[in-house]
Amino acid sequence: MKSSHFFFVCLLLLASVSVLANDLRLGNDVTPTFQAVTLKLDPSGDDYSGSTRISIEVLRAVDAIRLHADGIEISSVRLELDGTPISLTHSIGNDVLTLETSPTLRPGKYDLVIDFSNQFNTQAVGLYRMQADGVGYAFTQFEPTDARKAFPCFDEPVFKIPFQMTITARQKDEVVTNTPLISESRDGGWKTLKFAVTKPLSTYLLAIAVGPMESIEIPGIPVPGRVYTVAGMSALAAYSSSMVAPILDALQRYFGMAYPYEKLDFIAIPEYWPGAMEHPGAITFKDSIILFDKASVSAEQRRMASHVISHELAHQWFGNLVTMEWWEDLWLNESFADWMGDKITTELYPETKNELLELRNINGIMTGDSLVTSEPIRKTGTTASEMFQSVGLAYNKGKSVIGMFERWIGEEAFRNGVNAYLLENAWGNAKASDFWKALTDVAGADVALAMATFLKQPGVPLVEADMVENGIRLTQQRFSNYGTDLDAQTWHIPVGLRIGSEGKIVEKTVLLNQSEMLVEIEGLGTIDWVMPDADGAGYYRWNIGDRAIAAIAPGADKILNERERVAFLGNLGALLDAGTVGGDTYMKALGAFAIDPEPFVVSAVISELDNVRDTFITEELTEEFADYIKKTLSPTIERFGIDAKPAEDEAVAGFRPRLLYWLGVIGEEQQVVSWASETVARYTEDPTSIDPALAEVAVLIKAKKGDEFLFDQFVAAFEAADNPSARGIYLGALGGFENPAIRKRSLDYVLDGPIRPNEIFNIPNQLRNTEAGAELFFDWLLNNYTTVTTRIPPIWLPFMPLMGDGCDIERMEKTKTFFAQSKTKVDGTDKQMAKVEAGVLDCAALRKREGGKVRAYLKEL
Ligand SMILES: [Zn+2]
Repeated sequence: MKSSHFFFVCLLLLASVSVLANDLRLGNDVTPTFQAVTLKLDPSGDDYSGSTRISIEVLRAVDAIRLHADGIEISSVRLELDGTPISLTHSIGNDVLTLETSPTLRPGKYDLVIDFSNQFNTQAVGLYRMQADGVGYAFTQFEPTDARKAFPCFDEPVFKIPFQMTITARQKDEVVTNTPLISESRDGGWKTLKFAVTKPLSTYLLAIAVGPMESIEIPGIPVPGRVYTVAGMSALAAYSSSMVAPILDALQRYFGMAYPYEKLDFIAIPEYWPGAMEHPGAITFKDSIILFDKASVSAEQRRMASHVISHELAHQWFGNLVTMEWWEDLWLNESFADWMGDKITTELYPETKNELLELRNINGIMTGDSLVTSEPIRKTGTTASEMFQSVGLAYNKGKSVIGMFERWIGEEAFRNGVNAYLLENAWGNAKASDFWKALTDVAGADVALAMATFLKQPGVPLVEADMVENGIRLTQQRFSNYGTDLDAQTWHIPVGLRIGSEGKIVEKTVLLNQSEMLVEIEGLGTIDWVMPDADGAGYYRWNIGDRAIAAIAPGADKILNERERVAFLGNLGALLDAGTVGGDTYMKALGAFAIDPEPFVVSAVISELDNVRDTFITEELTEEFADYIKKTLSPTIERFGIDAKPAEDEAVAGFRPRLLYWLGVIGEEQQVVSWASETVARYTEDPTSIDPALAEVAVLIKAKKGDEFLFDQFVAAFEAADNPSARGIYLGALGGFENPAIRKRSLDYVLDGPIRPNEIFNIPNQLRNTEAGAELFFDWLLNNYTTVTTRIPPIWLPFMPLMGDGCDIERMEKTKTFFAQSKTKVDGTDKQMAKVEAGVLDCAALRKREGGKVRAYLKEL
């Protein structure tokens, strides 16, 4: 089954990476050993100038030196050996600056000095400018290959060297880079700031921020640190800044090593396309992730802040201290940081149930990985742009597999392996194989061999478990959706078994490394049931047969833990995709889980219902589906209450917004609709009086039936918003109106309103929630394709075929025709289009096969 909501939204949250560069590698005959960069930056202007001095070592005789420069105006180039200039000519092509010398350069140490000028970028990549309240700021986002857009450099991760920044800025501007300031001089309206030499860094980890920023101190950390914001926002950093010390502490304990850099600043940027970026000493964040009101902070804001801060801080060791040699291992960098982000969030904020949310994400990833188009997450030589195109799969499959292997070899052994790897490779570069080797050394099992079956093969295993006398028979094959033919594969799978036998529960983990295996358990009596995915920790699908599934579902909360119940639900959806479970059985099972005592299990039911809606609910079934939602979810809201109860479980508070959204927007439940009206009135009066997660839902419910007047009111509120969450809430709501004329206005506003490049899809993402809105958005995007694509961050271009995603074959075919033209293609378009096509065809086939049963089930209620 499909989850088509994943797309444009999800990209905003992925912490990393940009693209579309030339991936030609520079080779290793010439290597930089130090680079000084001097820039004069006034972000109220269009351009800037600079100069760079690079110490170079020529290891083998060469006729030319090559380094990266993209779109930069070079005014002079000088190369010297011991102070003696060497004659050369220079040229730029394909992002590469080539310096041809005569005579041939002998091995030795040279100095290269380049003067240049450039325009600030305006699409949130490279060194770019933006405005907040009419005032100019400049920020950077270099990963993976956009440092070359800012200044000439050796822009590959393997060139990990010390840098030194000197920045001339206006007196009134603050400047932040990776290291502390060491000297300052003033001249007229300008000041020149010299920063300390960095530890060895790859270019993608450099950061610069310039503008009239404010800051507050990060309390309780072992090095100096501040949170920087644009003017007027620093008070909103109070809450998140207090989260840093406990997170850093937990990481230092895990890694058994002190934080490796001299300072730790955070920079909150309004115009920023990734979630965050781990630059040592100067971590950048999308402002909404760390800026929120202390008085009304929501459970989701805390969960997200903790997860992202932990992820970025984990990179300080895994990624920064030890850096991948080439982009083929970016997935490991990110998978590990994200896995760690989950681990720390679960440790410090268990009440946010972050792990259950992540399990649902991983379920969505397995669904994508089951398509015929799926590819391995690690391939030797993968370029930065290729890596990025499968970014969601690579990160999340990677982290799920890491978690599964940690469970197999044990937490302590795993941690020892991580720390040995970091010590061995500190301040240098490493490959994934170095990591597996370190794990294999401590685990006494061949982790590398088993790991390779998940990393170098595409797809998801299907484990079948049969109860036999004295044990369980396990078999494996490749999981496939109904009617698709995939190549046969086997994996080495750590299978966690939880077995119920004569009133006892027995647990056992085995490595299923052949196509069939009998797991005998000594002294086991009659087996009552088996859950072949203990703790929901497996990156595999599983089946125990229809009758066993039907037997477990009704009493699941008695025998399965909450992770297992969430995993059970995701797996059930997959079995529906495979044709193993029928649409009616599936709907009935969802009903059984909807009364689960744990809010996040009900939330997982809603995720399945989301898929049901995308796949089966056409316009004519809207009413029946609304009734079904009311019937299924009303008991839950009665149990938890529309309004928060004093001292209630935080998981309830975290789940309530989602429940209200479904009851209010999909079910149009009257009580919830009235609640929304009252809440919007209070929120308009005083935004700090309402939990922003509830406010977001209330404005969406209110918007659905809203008129032109309300639309204008929300536009005004969006434009006047003085904090990032209110801005996001009102912007999204503009896409939530049902009236066709207002929907058209909302799309016009995307192009005419004060919308930032990273916000272009916020309104469309809401519109796409209904069939009619999706159709309108599709036509609008076809008509405005060039305007839209010249404004968004270029990194999003390969993903544009997602506009044809869903369950509609005709729309997918139109998309295919559109992207068959050379002018709409970039590197990666064809691959993305193939994924969309496979997904739509599977979805349409499922609708055809099971739609009748689902419809009959809904009509009968
Ligand atoms: Zn990351």
